Amino acid sequence: MRLSNAIYPGSFDPITYGHIDIVRRATRLFDDLVIAVVANPRKKPLFSVTERVRITEKALAECDICGVKVIAYDGLLIDCAKSHNVQAIVRGLRANSDFDYEFQMALTNRDLDSDIETVFFMTAGCYSFLSSSIVKEVKRFGGEIKSFAPKSVEQALAHKFE
Ligand code: ADP
Repeated sequence: MRLSNAIYPGSFDPITYGHIDIVRRATRLFDDLVIAVVANPRKKPLFSVTERVRITEKALAECDICGVKVIAYDGLLIDCAKSHNVQAIVRGLRANSDFDYEFQMALTNRDLDSDIETVFFMTAGCYSFLSSSIVKEVKRFGGEIKSFAPKSVEQALAHKFE
């Protein structure tokens, strides 16, 4: 079976240009892409899941990316992928710090459902050290984040840290 649609899961707390770079690469390969915002990530999020979905939607619109649906999910990613009839999971790779965790997750998901393939996209060099945590940290202390995330994200962070 050819892979035509995919799900891109993550915390997106908040979305950055690194995530957006992966979205652009994935939409070149897949006809349909769903961004799945995990409700309860491993690390306690700054934004609620509803906020993260809304911020992600706004950021995509600001970057002129249309046709990508943003949903919230809880529980097993594989169940979410199946319920959306998706055959591929998209993940991004930065510097080698991502590799061990991503490898473990991909193999675990393959064990859970061998029909769903995990596909990795390598980020642009300029975003290879960019993370949501860094963006939050810089903004929290009044730094400039316009090269890291869209304006709508900056506004959401400014509001949160008011
Ligand atoms: P998670 O908590 O699931 O890792 P994140 O929102 O931090 O959620 O990341 C979601 C996905 O996006 C992961 O595959 C991560 O490696 C990738 N990602 C995050 N930041 C970047 C970036 N700067 N460049 C490329 N991929 C990234």
